[in-house]
Amino acid sequence: MSASTSTTLPVTLTHRFADDLPELALDWQAAEAPEPRLLVLNQPLAVELGLDPDWLRSPDGVRFLVGGLVPDDARPVAQGYAGHQFGGYSPRLGDGRALLLGELTDAEGRLRDLHLKGSGRTPFARGGDGLAVVGPMLREYVVSEAMHALGIPTTRSLAVVWTGRGVQRETVLPGAVLTRVASSHLRVGSFQYARALCAQSGDLDLLRRLTDHAIARHHPHAAEADNPALALFEAVVAAQADLVARWMLVGFVHGVMNTDNVTISGETIDYGPCAFMEAFDPATSFSSIDEGGRYAYGNQPTITEWDLARLAEALLPLLHDDEGKAITLATTALQGFRPRYSAAWDAGWRAKLGLAAETPEADGTEEVVTDFLALLQTEHPDLTSFLVALRAGTARDHVVDLAAYDAWHTRWQALGPDLDLMGRTNPVRTPRNRLVEAALTAANAGDLAPLGPLLQAVTAPYGEAEGLDEFAQPAPDTADSYVTFCGT
Ligand code: AMP
Ligand code: MG
Repeated sequence: MSASTSTTLPVTLTHRFADDLPELALDWQAAEAPEPRLLVLNQPLAVELGLDPDWLRSPDGVRFLVGGLVPDDARPVAQGYAGHQFGGYSPRLGDGRALLLGELTDAEGRLRDLHLKGSGRTPFARGGDGLAVVGPMLREYVVSEAMHALGIPTTRSLAVVWTGRGVQRETVLPGAVLTRVASSHLRVGSFQYARALCAQSGDLDLLRRLTDHAIARHHPHAAEADNPALALFEAVVAAQADLVARWMLVGFVHGVMNTDNVTISGETIDYGPCAFMEAFDPATSFSSIDEGGRYAYGNQPTITEWDLARLAEALLPLLHDDEGKAITLATTALQGFRPRYSAAWDAGWRAKLGLAAETPEADGTEEVVTDFLALLQTEHPDLTSFLVALRAGTARDHVVDLAAYDAWHTRWQALGPDLDLMGRTNPVRTPRNRLVEAALTAANAGDLAPLGPLLQAVTAPYGEAEGLDEFAQPAPDTADSYVTFCGT
């Protein structure tokens, strides 16, 4: 821990989380970045947050982005949380290398967390060095901004700053700090941690305050319910069912869906070994540490449901005084997950195939969707380019079983697919694994040139774009050998 300078800056940060939930907030400061240099700044996001991009680019602004300069009234904290990691419970995780600088009120009056990743060891660091390196921080920047452009709820990335410090990994790599923005950093693991602290103290005050804080920030309608904690749980179930359906519809594999990486807001968080599939296969898994494929593409909905069951367990004492009744309430609420997910998945596929949201049962739309999904299972196409080709009338060039495809295509055409709708619901450009990797490798070596076109492509995923064709195509050979490493 090193001293950061506190001063009057053109930024106001509140500390509502730290005030409401001191048991989950450890006052802390960022480690000093010896020679901070801005690698990338998200200008539109800065403006949305009411921050002056020119100031953020100045020496003071860059120091602010790494936590070296904090406003007088700010109160940076490391947040405590627990989590099930690959199914095993860790009672004390927390921000080992991260800090919540505070909350900003954005141009629309919404409260947004400003958070650092890679800002030095905290008391939650355990054996870790508290640091992050350029590659994984840029990966989070690129993929989170791609997800946002796809309309998928996510934390955002404001900047990546090179710290000037070498970080020991397998080799020495350039250190970096990611400045991240989220509607909050409340996780399922925050509730697990609060519940455990309540078990120690013998009263439920902390869990109640955490629930109230979460309701106020994310699901305010739950405050009006007869059982606000139950209404919060139901709202999180719905938000997470919608979120994972959105991932599935674009072929996104998160890679590390531990309960500490599942938000209460319903935003995607903690981009580590994530990637987009380039050949449709439910068993797709990119993470080098996910040997059993627990977090493979096809498992993501059931894993989300499993993570939500852990949230229910943490909330039980607030659901009902009688534990049996609390379990019944939680179980019933969790049973809402599957229908909610299925509805989002079905509606998503109808739109992607240009078909009406609601049709009479007998018109065959449902079967056309089901049979298209079966086609994906047998043909293993790259989802993104295959749907673009379908819209353009060239998908036949990419299939092996032509008879099956032709029969399906005739039935699909008979439904009169809406090509405009398909254009709005099927991205053309996604973060292609080889191109992400090439940009990160170059950035590690100090060359930021490939990052520009990559960001340009993934932040404008729909429609035509000149000069960005390679971002529309999967790797020429099958992409399944792609391996990502945990974001450390
Ligand atoms: P993640 O896999 O990034 O979600 O992190 C899981 C947990 O490990 C969190 O508690 C992190 O703060 C912690 N962690 C990950 N990397 C490091 C590191 N280099 N130093 C300290 N803590 C870390
Ligand atoms: Mg995490």
